[in-house]
Amino acid sequence: MSLDPKRTIADLKELRDLTGDDNGAQRVAWTDTWLKAREWFQSKIKSLPVQHHYDAAGNSWTTLPGASEKTLILGGHLDSVPNGGWLDGSLGVTASLEVLRRFAEEYSGRPPVTVRLVDWADEEGARFGRSLLGSSAFAGTSSIDADRGRTDKDGIRLEDAVARCGFSIDRFPEATREQKNAAAYLELHIEQGPVLERMNLPLGVVLGTKGVERHAVTFFGQEAHSGSTPMDVRHDALAAAAKLALEIRSIASKHKDAVCTMGSVKTFPGIVTAVVGRCETALDQRDLDAGILAGMYREAQEASQRFAREEKCTVEWSRIWSIEPIAFHPALLGFCEEAVREVSGSAHRLPSGPLHDAAEVARSGIPAVMMFVQSLRGISHNKIEDTKEEHLQMSVQALDRLASKAARWILDATS
Ligand SMILES: [Zn+2]
Repeated sequence: MSLDPKRTIADLKELRDLTGDDNGAQRVAWTDTWLKAREWFQSKIKSLPVQHHYDAAGNSWTTLPGASEKTLILGGHLDSVPNGGWLDGSLGVTASLEVLRRFAEEYSGRPPVTVRLVDWADEEGARFGRSLLGSSAFAGTSSIDADRGRTDKDGIRLEDAVARCGFSIDRFPEATREQKNAAAYLELHIEQGPVLERMNLPLGVVLGTKGVERHAVTFFGQEAHSGSTPMDVRHDALAAAAKLALEIRSIASKHKDAVCTMGSVKTFPGIVTAVVGRCETALDQRDLDAGILAGMYREAQEASQRFAREEKCTVEWSRIWSIEPIAFHPALLGFCEEAVREVSGSAHRLPSGPLHDAAEVARSGIPAVMMFVQSLRGISHNKIEDTKEEHLQMSVQALDRLASKAARWILDATS
């Protein structure tokens, strides 16, 4: 039997029934349910002519050795958030498994290039707050000393949770060895947003992952009595912050895919009988283009200065976190576009707002690309996360075509 996308859906349902409950998927990394999901995966590859091992960071590698050592990697993650959906991450793993089966059968166990399937460890960071843990170890961008002491809500340390599953955080850097011979990385994922559904498209080509500028922005005014202080002499820190909260919408709207969010506002003293003396906000800005992102950051800073002056306040900025945009590989983007067009008739290109393991792989210098399949209602990280079965099947077909094109490309480059 050649590629069978229906088998992927059967696999996904089997995994859902085994590792979910009434509240959704419970495959949180480094827990027993996650280990159960990985055991289930092992049972699925038993009959295939593959080798399997876990790397030093707990990533699961299934290798189908080919005539060439040059390697095509297909990836996903079996871990989920608590009460998560049935497709986030697991679609990437199960669809890749189906493509691996097809390669094994078509080439009688020995394809022209080596094909590997990776199930990344702890993509979600749901328990310890550190996303992309396994893939960053692979890419050599991990932050072990900052991460080892992280604790979950019960006070258990990341280092100990990892050890319980048989891994040592001190050896995480050894996971970079898996980069050897890697020539291309492909990842299929649900969109987790509303864009493809709104355009009535089953599949999309992912241009890259957006860069993020995240800052604490604090306005300082003067606390004063709400009753006795005339309006024209107030130093109202909230008024200045409010102006910025509205201004970021027009800053973002100048660019097609940019987003700006003021997701948190705290006022001090925070009582109804006092003008706000201090207002702490947090601003998150994202775009795929580094220049646009830098420009939006500058514009927001300038606007905050202007609003502070207007309200007789001052403002201070401090960076919470930032990451540069990651653009996927041009040649692989072209193959992804062809594959999506062949299966669905048209190929829309869109950036990813959320980060993904593919971004870490690309950061390590390995050519990478992602494909999205439509998410119903644009909802994810929730038990109601869903995608039409017909679209899931198309996504397996398109990933398979993309894998064939990438394998040919790898071969051409080495011959
Ligand atoms: Zn995911």
